[in-house]
Amino acid sequence: MVPNDTTVDGLAEQLMEAVAEDMKELARWLVQHRQGELRTLEDGLRASGHRLLCRLMEESLVQEEEVRREGLHPGCAQCGQETSWLGQRPKRVHLLLGEMVLPRCCYYCAECHTTWAPLDRQLGIDQSGRSPRLVEAMALLGAELPFSPASQRLAQLCGVTVGPSQIEEVTEGIGQTWQQQEMVQMTRAFENHQLPPVENHYPWLVVALDGVMAPYRDGYHEVKVAAIGGVEWVPPEWAEASVAWRYVVHTGDVATLGKLAWLESYRQGLEEAEQVIVLGDGAPWIWHLAEDHWPGGVQILDFYHATQHLWAMGRSLWGEGSCQVAPWVEAAKDRLAGGKVEELLAQWRDLQAQDSEGFAKELNYFTNQRQRMKYDEYRAAGYPIGSGAVESANRHVVGVRVKQAGMRWLEPGIKGVLALRALLRSSQRWSQWWDRQSLPIPLAA
Ligand SMILES: [Zn+2]
Repeated sequence: MVPNDTTVDGLAEQLMEAVAEDMKELARWLVQHRQGELRTLEDGLRASGHRLLCRLMEESLVQEEEVRREGLHPGCAQCGQETSWLGQRPKRVHLLLGEMVLPRCCYYCAECHTTWAPLDRQLGIDQSGRSPRLVEAMALLGAELPFSPASQRLAQLCGVTVGPSQIEEVTEGIGQTWQQQEMVQMTRAFENHQLPPVENHYPWLVVALDGVMAPYRDGYHEVKVAAIGGVEWVPPEWAEASVAWRYVVHTGDVATLGKLAWLESYRQGLEEAEQVIVLGDGAPWIWHLAEDHWPGGVQILDFYHATQHLWAMGRSLWGEGSCQVAPWVEAAKDRLAGGKVEELLAQWRDLQAQDSEGFAKELNYFTNQRQRMKYDEYRAAGYPIGSGAVESANRHVVGVRVKQAGMRWLEPGIKGVLALRALLRSSQRWSQWWDRQSLPIPLAA
């Protein structure tokens, strides 16, 4: 029943009465400090103002629970059967604003053997009594920072005390929940042909794929990263392109990464994109995925990786530490960028150093990849030639969070943290996802 204005006014007055003492205390404090600096006032207001706001909210919810108590017992949320009244049980609720204690009406379902508080459900608070916005803030900070500094930042910025282990539990658990949802979407798409809605339409899509080593307890393992970029308008020069990036990070097999990345490219308008560009280094798995999922896409070997191979080649030619390596590499780099890979290959084949194992290996690399090194053509068409995107995804989605000194991860933890970071770094993703979840969001184990 929606209360009328008179009832609302009456209830509001009751609220004001209930917090009158707290209000007076706050006013008294303000009078005492009004000659002080703003930072003193702001600190004080944050603490006691938040306390007052929590009290107001608490009182208002208590009023509402009184109404509930008078009403009919609700049916069980799970089976719909009649429930029995257990009484009002208090629960401490943790918010970004502080804490409140709510005496919730509790019911028992004999069929499901569960105790049920409708208010918990209405508010979306989790088992530990945390509010959805607090959970979101914990996950955000845990995705950005190691758990101890994350806990300190939450205290510094919001005045809320949450231990590092709680932040860890929430960050990893929510990250895994999101990852599991993606796996379900992937299975639906690939096994049941149920495709997700298309969210954007871009004239060009760039798919950049790479692997990055991450420290686990039992040594380094490769984590696979896909960056899917929607090019918002097609520029004459790639450097001017405005790109909306979405990231997929997968700690498991290549085939799954490929499917997850395809799913994201589908959401970004793959079916209608005029041009798809796949960027990667020389790793065969990248080009297999490109053939499977983005056939007809322009395959480009990332220029940055190619230059790293030029350095390796130069060192095998001139010897480690030789001052001739750098000028040789610079000259070769210019010609490579100019699309002269066939000329370079012809020249290299004539070189004596073919006896060197290292040189032969690099020559083989360039021979195998030459179809993806038409850099003059790519640049003329306005395509990107360096997978700066995926390189920086490696760094800003994976490296800066999980490769800090002393970090050694276990699979469930790193999987959750990286999934959440990919969500956080992806264009338009974070709030969209949080706002669509039914609450409380379960923490996957
Ligand atoms: Zn039930």
